[in-house]
Amino acid sequence: MRHKFRSTRGQDSASIDEAILMGLARDGGLFIPEQFPAISIKRCYEHSQLTSLAKEIMSPFFYQSKIVINDTFCRKVFNFSTPLIHLEKNTYILELFHGPTLSFKDLCAQFFSECLSLLLQKKTSKVIVATSGDTGGAVAQAMHGKRNIEGIILFPKNKISIRQQAQISCWGDNIHALAVNGDFDQCQELVKQVLSESPSNSYWTTANSINIARLLPQIIFYAFSSIQLAIQHNSNVNFIVPSGNLGNVTACYWAKYLGFPIEEIWIANNANHVLHDFLRTGVYKPENSITTLATAMDVGDPSNLERLLALFTSLEECREALNVQSVRDEDIKTAIKTCYNRYQYILCPHTATAYHRYLSYESKKPCVIVSTAHPAKFAETIEPLINASIKIPHALEIMLSKKQTYSEIEPNLQSLKHFLVG
Ligand SMILES: *Cc1c(COP(=O)(O)O)cnc(C)c1O
Repeated sequence: MRHKFRSTRGQDSASIDEAILMGLARDGGLFIPEQFPAISIKRCYEHSQLTSLAKEIMSPFFYQSKIVINDTFCRKVFNFSTPLIHLEKNTYILELFHGPTLSFKDLCAQFFSECLSLLLQKKTSKVIVATSGDTGGAVAQAMHGKRNIEGIILFPKNKISIRQQAQISCWGDNIHALAVNGDFDQCQELVKQVLSESPSNSYWTTANSINIARLLPQIIFYAFSSIQLAIQHNSNVNFIVPSGNLGNVTACYWAKYLGFPIEEIWIANNANHVLHDFLRTGVYKPENSITTLATAMDVGDPSNLERLLALFTSLEECREALNVQSVRDEDIKTAIKTCYNRYQYILCPHTATAYHRYLSYESKKPCVIVSTAHPAKFAETIEPLINASIKIPHALEIMLSKKQTYSEIEPNLQSLKHFLVG
């Protein structure tokens, strides 16, 4: 079979290399595996290193690709730790923020930009990215200095944290930061418009979780941590995942689908509640996003919902499989305070949505609260709540000390094109 990936909208298919280079499918849908490869879970249990497990899981997806997923590749792109912190009883926090820009986005941005760079070789590509705060910094860091890539990063003006903005606009060279006078959904819509307008032989793609190479590596963290805990507790594992554009949680479902020892998956949204509404009414109605304390999850039209729904055959099945709750800002604040008072552990506002869910449920199985960002990125929100200051990691300090440059545009294609041409 030559084509291994198909569009969620059913009108397009592609090899893995084509899917990465295109980003969005030609029918406007998102690429998903036509068939998930058969991965030997038993063999996966034999890997004690994240990098060797990564090779085992990723290789079959890259069958017949120009990209060779070998040890060298995996050691280069997965060079960070993903510690499981024991919180209490059978509950753990999975810290996914030990990459260079301190959010889980780093863990897939490195993989993505290495894949793209290898595929392009001497050609060049423009990579356009919409960010709700963390993707921008992560992919900018990962792409900065790569000669065959030009990065254009769209962030919603005044809707991300001060430190997130610094991490996006401190690079220069091949990285261009654009403050869009709108919200994340408008940034993402601009990305989709640019990609669907560009002929498929021109090199435009995206580093958003729209791109399959951003999403696939996220499976690894769920596989790795679920195996670790399954061995320790002799039981399947539950995950609570802070979600916005629904990429991260889609990867968790894919890991479960592949057969890793995952029992229940709980989705924690912030006050943006389109997924909750969809499951209740059966009608999908995108909304303008609401600004919350968990800004990186402020999404009113989540792209990856198409991928998530493709796993199920009926609304009933979706309702059974998708356990979602929308968490208000007040509850985020309380969760941050409660967790700090109990354990002196500082949650970022996104992770706090998952912790809030944990507080209101009794989990009989080992339970993992997925921590998506380092709290230091959101100091202005957290410090007044806990009455303590958060130590700034050295890598962040360096980025904050650099000069910031960005341009401003209106949330329409004309304004964006003016920037691209001018
Ligand atoms: C991006 C992000 C999320 C949401 O992840 P999705 O894949 O968009 O659902 C949650 N928390 C943080 C800190 C993020 O940066």
